[in-house]
Amino acid sequence: MRFAIIGAGLAGLTAAYEIHKADPTAQIDVLEAGERIGGKLFTVPFASGPTDIGAEAFLAARSDAVEFFTELGLADSLVSPSAAKSQYFAGGALHAFPAGGVMGIPSNPPAGAQDTAFDWTPGQDISVGALVRRQYGDEIVDTVVSSLLGGVYSSTADDLGVRASVPALAAALDQLAEAGEPVTLSAAVKAVEAQREAAKTTSETRPVFQTFKGGYAELYEALAEQYGADIHLDSFVSAITKDGEGFAIKGGGEGTYDKVILAVPAPTAAVLLRDLAPAAAPHLRAIKLASSAVVGMRFDSSEGLPDNSGVLVAVNEPGITAKAFTFSSKKWPHLEARGGALVRASFGRLGDEASARMDEDLLVDAALDDLLTITGFDGRAAGLGEIFVQRWFGGLPAYGVDHIATVSAARAEIAAVPGVEAIGAWAGGVGVPAVIADAQAAVHRLLG
Ligand SMILES: Cc1cc2nc3c(=O)[nH]c(=O)nc-3n(C[C@H](O)[C@H](O)[C@H](O)COP(=O)(O)OP(=O)(O)OC[C@H]3O[C@@H](n4cnc5c(N)ncnc54)[C@H](O)[C@@H]3O)c2cc1C
Repeated sequence: MRFAIIGAGLAGLTAAYEIHKADPTAQIDVLEAGERIGGKLFTVPFASGPTDIGAEAFLAARSDAVEFFTELGLADSLVSPSAAKSQYFAGGALHAFPAGGVMGIPSNPPAGAQDTAFDWTPGQDISVGALVRRQYGDEIVDTVVSSLLGGVYSSTADDLGVRASVPALAAALDQLAEAGEPVTLSAAVKAVEAQREAAKTTSETRPVFQTFKGGYAELYEALAEQYGADIHLDSFVSAITKDGEGFAIKGGGEGTYDKVILAVPAPTAAVLLRDLAPAAAPHLRAIKLASSAVVGMRFDSSEGLPDNSGVLVAVNEPGITAKAFTFSSKKWPHLEARGGALVRASFGRLGDEASARMDEDLLVDAALDDLLTITGFDGRAAGLGEIFVQRWFGGLPAYGVDHIATVSAARAEIAAVPGVEAIGAWAGGVGVPAVIADAQAAVHRLLG
């Protein structure tokens, strides 16, 4: 059986690994447009050690991901964060995030807000921004909620659907409506908090987040070594067509493939599926992409850097260009042990392409200036030893209103073409565990 996998990001590499595991005789060609594997996972070799410049953590509360990494022989590479907490910067000052709540949405409305009961049909969707603004007012959205969501999704609360980006909250709203109880935001948040407390007492305690001691390269290199596939770099695939009972790939690979997995961003999948599943294209094209840029900086001294894991910046904060800082060496003890300070500045949210396109010198200056304004830490004086600037054009899908329904509609059209699957963060969800699970499920469907 011959497989073509388009894209050597996490989704494509996981799919190749799973196919090989199920059928070691399978011939697998992975076709990657870029000159390296890993996609949005990218570990760069700083002199002080490997440093992630894309994803930098994963949700370790997801036991399936930890089991997968253990299967790959990476259990000893997993490391946990320090107890340092993040803060947010709003109104020119640093603030602690409120305790409890869901994604910064507290379980009690702010003073003066009404949070009156509203109509809710189970399964419906609404933007997080619209929901929280209506029930709790604007301020909490523009400061706490959007800064937290922006750090994860590169989009503000107004551009994110509650069902895809805060699924536990959507489920709680559904449950209130199904039970015939008054649906309010505070009741739904309290229900999520209660579920979280119950889960704490029933499951073993594990850290919420973890990462790899040697960076994500440990993961993508382990996958590449263990899956027995041929990786073709610099292979930009431009079309997939039917070829007898199989498929022909334009722009890489040779001959006919029995099965094809597209592990590329949704708009690219739309283009590649234009002949095979034209009706999927409008759904795939509806999934917008948010671009961002990350500036990784290593300083000789950490003196004066706050003892926090990072800072998230409120939307439209005057005089600040960055949307977030991760104080990596404060967040991760294994990075602190290298000495000095490691800081990542992130720029850009959905609709703000300008930040990701800023001139490299301007980006670094903005990172240093914003860091000084927000924390008082003078990076120039601390000795800027190393810098790496990475632009992530179309880095993250925007999980907008009705995203889940859009993905289902696209998948239904693709399912009508036997032998083809389309996977990735746009379909499975933003985080590394979700992308892995999505790729695994697709391989199981494909292999029957
Ligand atoms: C800055 C940033 C920080 C993040 N931080 C975290 C984090 O801390 N924790 C977390 O869990 N997640 C994080 N994420 C999200 C996570 O990294 C991604 O969801 C995940 O890596 C996406 O994997 P993927 O395989 O779906 O897509 P991608 O990584 O985008 O892979 C797609 C691949 O397809 C290739 N490709 C595209 N078009 C073609 C073509 N026509 N022909 C051939 N190849 C093609 C691309 O070059 C790419 O290699 C972050 C993402 C970004 C951008």
